[in-house]
Amino acid sequence: MKLARIWLDGQALDVRVEGEEVVLPPGHRLELSTVRLLPPTAPTKVICVGFNYRDHAQELEVEIPKEPLFFLKPPSALVAHGQPIPYPAHTAQLDYEGELAVVIARRCRSVSRERAREVILGYSILNDVTARDVQKVEKQWVRAKAFDGSAPYGPWVETELDPLDVRIITRVNGEVRQDSSTRYMIFDVYELVAEASRYMTLEPGDVIATGTPPGVGPLRPGDVVEITVEGVGTLRNPVAAAD
Ligand code: MG
Repeated sequence: MKLARIWLDGQALDVRVEGEEVVLPPGHRLELSTVRLLPPTAPTKVICVGFNYRDHAQELEVEIPKEPLFFLKPPSALVAHGQPIPYPAHTAQLDYEGELAVVIARRCRSVSRERAREVILGYSILNDVTARDVQKVEKQWVRAKAFDGSAPYGPWVETELDPLDVRIITRVNGEVRQDSSTRYMIFDVYELVAEASRYMTLEPGDVIATGTPPGVGPLRPGDVVEITVEGVGTLRNPVAAAD
């Protein structure tokens, strides 16, 4: 099942997506192409993981981490499917990072790896948009990764997915830039939920972005970036003109 949120008549509505239609709670149907999608949940936080694919860590010449390297993006970083990614004035290298997103179903803390499945609502897609030049000169990645527009998220949450071996592809203007599988993760989805929940309470709708495979690279104003996760869908965003 695909769960989405849309903006309709001045309010956010939870809907299901079936094929090319969205189904509103009373059963009323609208064409998907005519509705404005919102980020599919309203997370209290987006927990991100750095260097979680072996070959991406090598690409950036950092050591393979022995435990997950977490950082946070605030809700103000979110951008819905289809909406433009702003190109902020404080960077000269805005990179895409295509990532599988885990969406939390219910409040939880200290979840074991074995029980992680029980607290997962489903899976979506997140673009961990990064000011790469800024990342290289700051220890806390706030200006590099937590700015407005740094978390395109959507288009929906797929509740039926085995996340351990799904293909993830990033295209820029239709050209393939990343093409990998979640099987190359250093810490899998269930380990990440368990580990993150050791430190902080996870709330319904919270997102864990699970890291990016190799092939990260820059975006330019006017580019269109598309991230496809097999079995979930495609998150598509244009890049806006520079501030
Ligand atoms: Mg990332």
